[in-house]
This record gives sequence, C-alpha cells and structure tokens, in this order.
Amino acid sequence: MARIGFVGLGNMGAPMARNLLKAGHDVAVFDLQASAVVALAEAGARAAAASADAAAGADFVVTMLPAGRHVREVWLGSGGMGSGGVGSEGMGSGSKGGGAGLAAAAGPDAVLIDCSTIDVATAREVAAAVGRPMLDAPVSGGVMGAEAGTLTFMVGGPADAFGRAEPILAAMGRTVVHCGEAGAGQAAKVCNNMLLAISMIGTCEAFVLAERLGLSHQALFDVASRSSGQCWSLTTYCPVPGPVPNSPANRDYRPGFAAALMAKDLGLSQQAARETGAGTPLGAASLALYERFLAAGGEGKDFSGIIAMLREDGGT
Ligand code: NAD
Repeated sequence: MARIGFVGLGNMGAPMARNLLKAGHDVAVFDLQASAVVALAEAGARAAAASADAAAGADFVVTMLPAGRHVREVWLGSGGMGSGGVGSEGMGSGSKGGGAGLAAAAGPDAVLIDCSTIDVATAREVAAAVGRPMLDAPVSGGVMGAEAGTLTFMVGGPADAFGRAEPILAAMGRTVVHCGEAGAGQAAKVCNNMLLAISMIGTCEAFVLAERLGLSHQALFDVASRSSGQCWSLTTYCPVPGPVPNSPANRDYRPGFAAALMAKDLGLSQQAARETGAGTPLGAASLALYERFLAAGGEGKDFSGIIAMLREDGGT
C-alpha cells in the first residue's frame, strides 16, 4: 500500500482515484469542487483541505487537471518557484491554486506525476522548475477507460521515477509506456491524437464520397477494413452506424471522445508544430475543421460526428 495525494477529481480524476482506492492504496484527495472531494471521501479517501495537504506525507502525488495553466499553478504555486518562460497555454491565471505549490509540499522522495493533457513546453517548464524528478503521464482511453481501469499512460521523465510509478499507474490503466525524458508523454499524446483526427476525417470523407457514388456503407467497410484503407477510425470507431455496432455513430454521436477535447488536443499539436517548425498541414486543416464543427453545434458530440458537417457542406 502506498500513500497517494490526488488533486483534480473531474470526469477522469475521480474514477482514477477510485481505482487507486480499490487497489488498496491510502489516497488523500483535493479538488476545488467540494462535492467531488465529498464523493471520494465517501468511497474511502481522505479529504484534504488544500492541494498541499493532499501532498503532505505522500509517496506519490498525482494531478489530473484541465490545462497547462492549472498544472503550473497547482504544482508551482502562485510564486512559480522561479520558473522561466511561459508557454501560451500557461498564460493567465484562471484557477485558484488551493494553497502552496504541490512540489514544495511533497516530501523529497515523493514521485510527482501529472496525468493532465497539456502542451509539451509547459510540461517541460514545470518539470524543470520543480527541480527534481517529475513525470508527465497523459492518458488515452477516456472516461470509460478511467472507470474500467484500462487507460493507456504515455510517460515522460527519468527512468528511475518511471520504475517507481509504474505499479501505481498500472492500478489505473492497462498499458503504461515510457516514452523518454520530460515532456515525451505529452509529445506522444499530441502526435497520436493529431494522427487520430486526420484518420477520422479521412474515414468520414471516404464514407461521404461513397454515399454520393451510391456505394453502401457496409460495402465500403467490408473492402477498406480488409485493404490498405484500414485504420482504427474505421474498424473500431466507424463514423457511420451499422458496421461497428458499439461506435458512437450508433447512438447519435453521444461521446465517446468529445469533439471539444479533440479540438483541444489538436490545438496543442499545432502549438507544438509552431514551436518546433514541424510541417503539419493536415493537422492544421483538422483543427480548422473541428473548430468549425464546434461553432456549428458539435460541442456535445463525439468527434466522429464531424461526418455530418462534411456531408452537408463539404467542410468548405
Ligand atoms: P474535468 O474538467 O472534468 O476535471 C478537472 C478537475 O480539475 C475539475 O474537477 C476541477 O475542479 C479541478 N481543478 C481545476 N483547477 C484546480 C485546482 N487549482 N486545484 C484543484 N482542482 C482543480 O476534466 P477531465 O475530463 O477530468 O480531464 C482532465 C484532463 O484529462 C484534461 O487535461 C483532459 O484533456 C484530459 N483527458 C480527458 C479525457 C476525457 O475523455 N475527459 C480523455 C483523455 C484525457
């Protein structure tokens, strides 16, 4: 049993913390939403009065927060521990830190883990400002994966800290991959999700063209799923109802993976592309299409629901 401080009990963090409790760990929790803390306390966690209190005495400190600015504030406190430049995601305040920075409150041997999806630059800056081993460990698998304990963790940071953290992450997920040094987990996440967006839009375009050509969804699926067009967006998450019975297309595009979260991740990929000079024209086009989809009412829809916009106006 390990002592774990967990901060950020939203859609993802709450079920992740519950899985740590189920695995027999001693978990102290904090969130700005008191009701989220109460719900976890009822499940057996210790309620902390501030994020720093959750970290005190912990062997592992885990955060699951919305964006880079929250991660910066929660880990470094309002003083920022003398950190240097601020990535564009890191600007502004927008949240209350809930007390002193987590990094200062955690004991010197505690393993520090941020599971939020944030920009690579802020992840690296926070890890450097903390000044001791810290892991960026974003996830894929969504709320269902968080509840089922089947998340994939992609982890950046020192190998020894990764080795210590691996069993804790394994209590919340099925796959844990060490991707490299600080920021490598976030880098893997934005690259993977940019690829996913591009493949989903490509799959949607193929179905829209098939419809115009009088080719049935099932016929395209039967051919492409067994030939060179095969991809996850087609065979696991098919954007038209029928061929894959449990895909969101079969439930009026209820998420799943919300289009708004895909747009967030695409924005992070384009921030990284700008900062590194990488050419990602399809990533940029995908972000523009998802922004249009959100503006046109796609906010509450699964990201595969973008097929409706492509079908109606060709995405132009
Ligand atoms: P959420 O908005 O439901 O939860 C975030 C929680 O953080 C909220 O409960 C909020 O009160 C809390 N919080 C914010 N600032 C805080 C502070 N200063 N101190 C303490 N608590 C604070 O978000 P979510 O859906 O749980 O997502 C969390 C992260 O996981 C995001 O970075 C998101 O991109 C990523 N992610 C989400 C999904 C998904 O399907 N929801 C999938 C993969 C990754």
